Amino acid sequence: MRPATEDNSPRSRSARFDRYNPMNTMNEPGSATKKQVRELEETARELHALLSPCRLCPNGCGVDRLSGEIGRCGIGPSARIANHGPHFGEETVLIGDRGSGTVFFSGCNLACLYCQNWTISHGCEGADLTDVELADVFLRIQKSDCANLNLVTPTHQTHVIVAALAIATANGFDLPVVWNCGGYESIETLRLLDGIVDIYMPDLKYGANDVAQRLSGVPDYVDVSRRAAVEMHRQVGALRIDGDGLARRGVLVRHLVLPNGLGGSHEVLRFLGASVSPDTYVNLMDQYRPRHRAGSVAELGRPITAEEYADALRAAEDAGIHRFA
Ligand code: SF4
Repeated sequence: MRPATEDNSPRSRSARFDRYNPMNTMNEPGSATKKQVRELEETARELHALLSPCRLCPNGCGVDRLSGEIGRCGIGPSARIANHGPHFGEETVLIGDRGSGTVFFSGCNLACLYCQNWTISHGCEGADLTDVELADVFLRIQKSDCANLNLVTPTHQTHVIVAALAIATANGFDLPVVWNCGGYESIETLRLLDGIVDIYMPDLKYGANDVAQRLSGVPDYVDVSRRAAVEMHRQVGALRIDGDGLARRGVLVRHLVLPNGLGGSHEVLRFLGASVSPDTYVNLMDQYRPRHRAGSVAELGRPITAEEYADALRAAEDAGIHRFA
């Protein structure tokens, strides 16, 4: 789907337009030191307090998860994961030689009609783990020499993730932590992650709230995800990549181009360039396929065209974006 001509490929655009110089970031956001074990334990306690009534994410369901009530995300107080291990399908800057150490969390705080992993996200397939067992998963990923710990769809399980990080850190865990989320994050929860997450990798899915309501079931996605992206950038700054080509710290934004302009690519990219930073590292994704319940919306019923993707690339360039995955 990506245009075949060399001049229009994101990688060649990146080479031509990447004016980013990490030496110029001395006064930029992202200088916080990592939280140590005691601080992680304290943060885990603060996050647990957000579960009853649950306001861990912007859905604010208000259910008492500590007593077993279940909100929109479908998950109780324990961790539930579908699978974990080295993964080579992520962005090049995350995988290195040994892969990105992904942990796929079950459940989700969004309800996207076109979800590719719906049996995990909506069906909540997976196994329940204690914080000690989850910490063991993190340590095994480090033992596998993965480039990072890549937490996929973590938002609604933040409390147990941080508790597990405290245990793992006490036992020598020190990989960069990647927060691989849908972008629907509360500022209160994000602030508690300051000094814990090294690389934020949010989706920015939409440019209009009414489309988000129709396709992902939340009424305020654009406002919430934009505030979240600004907070993420405040914490960790633009993505910094080391001499081995691996991401170390910063924000990497994913935007999936949807057919018929449903993803609002122009609005999303304009916002990123103007209100986050033109140095934002962006993965402009072309792989949309109509899956799950996408057939219920006529405009979602086909892959994108080459022209739709080229149009999104032009929008990125017009917004001053110049760093592409
Ligand atoms: S984390 Fe789950 S239960 Fe809590 S507010 Fe979000 S969707 Fe609701």
